[in-house]
Amino acid sequence: MDLIYRYDPNAPYQHETPQDAESAIKVLCDGNLRLTSVVGRMQRTARGEEAGGEVVVPICPASLGVPLWAGTIPTQQPYALVLGCSDARVPIEPIFDQSFNDLFVVRIAGNVLGTECLGSVDYAVRHFSESLKLVVVLGHSGCGAVSAAVETYLSPKDYADIAFTHALRSLVDRIMIAVRGASNALQQVCGQSVQHHPKYKDALKEVAVYLNAAITAFDLRREVTAFGTASVRVVYGVYDLATLFVTAAPTANPTEPNFAPAPQQDELTELGKKLATAVVKKGVLGNRIDLWNKIE
Ligand SMILES: [Zn+2]
Repeated sequence: MDLIYRYDPNAPYQHETPQDAESAIKVLCDGNLRLTSVVGRMQRTARGEEAGGEVVVPICPASLGVPLWAGTIPTQQPYALVLGCSDARVPIEPIFDQSFNDLFVVRIAGNVLGTECLGSVDYAVRHFSESLKLVVVLGHSGCGAVSAAVETYLSPKDYADIAFTHALRSLVDRIMIAVRGASNALQQVCGQSVQHHPKYKDALKEVAVYLNAAITAFDLRREVTAFGTASVRVVYGVYDLATLFVTAAPTANPTEPNFAPAPQQDELTELGKKLATAVVKKGVLGNRIDLWNKIE
């Protein structure tokens, strides 16, 4: 298959800027769907299967957010802010097929909300109030920071080794509330014996990744409201390294990207149980009929 980026000066591509949060969510979901679609076609091509014809992507400097005329400088106008993880496998713009000047990106291991991150968020929502419509917390599967927090939770004696420095502790400690929430949720859904299941750690990590993104979104919305910019919507999602889809809940074979709104405080417990149920139904703990019976 051919993937062609085409610039035609006689047919300049018009770059649409989202005017509200709903449009911003749609642009991000459409972009993620383009990524999964193109990569899916490449994978079918690699297997020698029919993958369709060429893919033509119309571009021009303006659509890329860079100057059409040499020497001019574009005004910064991001329509969404994304707080994501530093993981090299999770670059924000390619995941959503977005370009220069579309997203204001803050990346930190575990997508945790430290003081400096909050400063960046505060700056963005104050200075880009005209263009900024959406704040996204993006977690990802296989997150090393969440895994480290799970390891220290399951084996407290290793805490000093895993979180040896003040800097590492600041990451692990911030994620611990999500790990404890995930542990409680799995035990409520599957019973206490789930702790002894051979795949328990995998399930705990997966629930914790989603819950960590949701809790960070919950915290972030409170902060955004405190900044006096409550009109900016806050959502969360998790990028799956295997499927490339961004979704708000674990899904075995996703077909559509989606986000969920930042939860309210009284929704967090139920959200944890919903995520734990989704992880069990996805088969992370295997097809244990006793677990199925507990959640149905
Ligand atoms: Zn990560």
